[in-house]
Amino acid sequence: MSSSKTLLVLENFIAGKFVPCSSYIDSYNPSTGDVYCRVPDSGKEEVEAAVRAAKDAFPVWSSKSPLERSQILNKLADLIEHDLEAFAQAESKDQGKTITFARTVDIPRAVYNFRFFASSILHHTTECTEMVAMGCLHYTSRTPVGIAGLISPWNLPLYLLTWKIAPAIACGNTVVAKPSEMTSVTAWMMCKLFEKAGIPHGVVNMVFGMGSKAGEAIVCHPDVPLISFTGSMLTAQCITEKSAPHCKKLSLELGGKNPALIFDDADLNQCIPATVRSSFANQGEICLCTSRIFVQKGIYNEFLKRFVAETKKWKVGNPSDPAVDVGALISKEHLEKVRNYVKKAQAEGARILCGEGVDSLVLPAGNQKGYFMLPTVITEIKDESCCMQEEIFGPVTCVVAFDTEEEVIERANGVKYGLAATVWSSNVSRVHRVAQRLQSGLVWTNCWLVRDLNLPFGGMKASGVGREGAKDSYEFFTEVKTITIKH
Ligand code: NAD
Repeated sequence: MSSSKTLLVLENFIAGKFVPCSSYIDSYNPSTGDVYCRVPDSGKEEVEAAVRAAKDAFPVWSSKSPLERSQILNKLADLIEHDLEAFAQAESKDQGKTITFARTVDIPRAVYNFRFFASSILHHTTECTEMVAMGCLHYTSRTPVGIAGLISPWNLPLYLLTWKIAPAIACGNTVVAKPSEMTSVTAWMMCKLFEKAGIPHGVVNMVFGMGSKAGEAIVCHPDVPLISFTGSMLTAQCITEKSAPHCKKLSLELGGKNPALIFDDADLNQCIPATVRSSFANQGEICLCTSRIFVQKGIYNEFLKRFVAETKKWKVGNPSDPAVDVGALISKEHLEKVRNYVKKAQAEGARILCGEGVDSLVLPAGNQKGYFMLPTVITEIKDESCCMQEEIFGPVTCVVAFDTEEEVIERANGVKYGLAATVWSSNVSRVHRVAQRLQSGLVWTNCWLVRDLNLPFGGMKASGVGREGAKDSYEFFTEVKTITIKH
């Protein structure tokens, strides 16, 4: 553990000011295993102060025009972009992800989230219908909901937090946000830019701390009518229960057990590197990562051989080394959990083709105590196995064979989740047919993670409730009213 003198100490950001907290939580650098940061352990009192600030700021912020809010969002995007390298370094250190991923995915997307909603808020229209015979005109109007409670996870810290803050404030709400206690640093850094961007005090309040304390205080607060949550299904169940007495508006973006369906006629030169990436990008810690790969029998052996060879090229090591592809997992506990899944698969008689337990992991001297794991490919595993049913959220993927289209659709749908699927085939009719029948909020065919933020994002079944995107986020973060005028 580092000496307390060198520790980074974060403070809550309430009503435009940084305020210390009476107690703190240790935060670890996943690539070294050292405590390097202290995060406020906020509770009801801090959340109460943040809600009061958000309430005070609401009348002025909600009455600004969309154009005024848009200009402020654009300014904030410019400021984050100006400090992109500092944000990327901080995100990599705090989360364990590679510097390359933070530089090219996390922080550019956080910037784009503000730019996107700064633009989209200018283009919404409301509806109007006429009943000529009755002499009536109906129209809808949309107003901000009020104080938005925003709770985000640790895997894509600033990326996912800004995906909530940007639409919430673009629509005229004020915010009480809580990032994951394990990855709070970039949210704290962003708060330093709010004043310069022109965000009035109290519009965005950041309360750091544990989900069971600070998170629950937000969820249970009677003056927070809306909760946007991204995280695990278990936490979502708790949020649903705790918010039920208040009938809050909820958006729940949860986990996945995402299948790839690879048909005999797939272009393997495209499919194999893309499926390695979809399995192991960000250490497999993306809700959209592929974790069940179904390969049609005719190409199964060739696919497996080439897939394992490609996986072995992925270099695990110090996240700040630009040549590294796989960084550290978020925590010691999470690494243990992911390793245990591989052990369970082995105990069930599955084969581990590469990675955990079969290859040796060589780490640089400074990273020996970090939470690293080799990308792991499992095969000869049953669909009922926990590795094929539960979200592992680490660098582990299972490859199994199938015969027919009908069979693979049924097996792909045979889990409780329904977030993202990929289909690989050069037969256009099949691609449409299969995409229609998959129980999945997103289906990528012959590609992965190509996103148009205009369109709905979110999952079916246990993967969530609600969607996010230009129209969906606008509808979620506003209340609609139907007004009838008899003339
Ligand atoms: P988590 O549910 O443990 O925590 C998410 C957030 O909720 C954190 O800020 C946490 O402090 C807070 N929280 C925990 N308990 C709470 C409570 N009782 N009340 C209020 N807040 C509480 O999830 P995680 O481990 O941080 O993230 C990983 C999960 O997130 C995975 O399941 C992953 O698939 C999912 N995820 C989903 C998406 C998506 O868009 N669908 C994106 C990223 C991650």
